[in-house]
Amino acid sequence: MSTCLFCRIIAKELPATVFYEDENWLVIADINPQAPWHLLFISKEHIPSFQELTPRHSHLLANLVEVVHQVTVREGISSYRLINNVGVDAGQSVPHFHWHLLAGKELDDFLA
Ligand code: 5GP
Ligand code: ZN
Repeated sequence: MSTCLFCRIIAKELPATVFYEDENWLVIADINPQAPWHLLFISKEHIPSFQELTPRHSHLLANLVEVVHQVTVREGISSYRLINNVGVDAGQSVPHFHWHLLAGKELDDFLA
């Protein structure tokens, strides 16, 4: 059993509110939302952060574009912020590559 929180959510060992899932990405609601919409786009592969991406992962980012478009259009989200935190100083608390999508209000300068 993995000790990584997001790997455990991906493995369905822990519950989450799922908005989208394919072979590359799992999209869930953040447990501690910073805005009316606060989704997490979590890579299915365990990669510690954006910094560890290699050319082998380029398909992930290409696919992310499609996934963000699909989820936002489906949910009627036309204005949003995508955030990726790398490392503790930047606010990364879960060392598994993921993006935050925040929306639904006028967003403060710093969020997530
Ligand atoms: P980070 O701080 O690493 O950029 O983002 C991690 C995010 O995961 C935080 O916004 C935090 O609220 C969220 N989070 C932490 N634990 C859980 C959990 O068990 N379930 C869900 N859905 N989100 C979580
Ligand atoms: Zn993981």
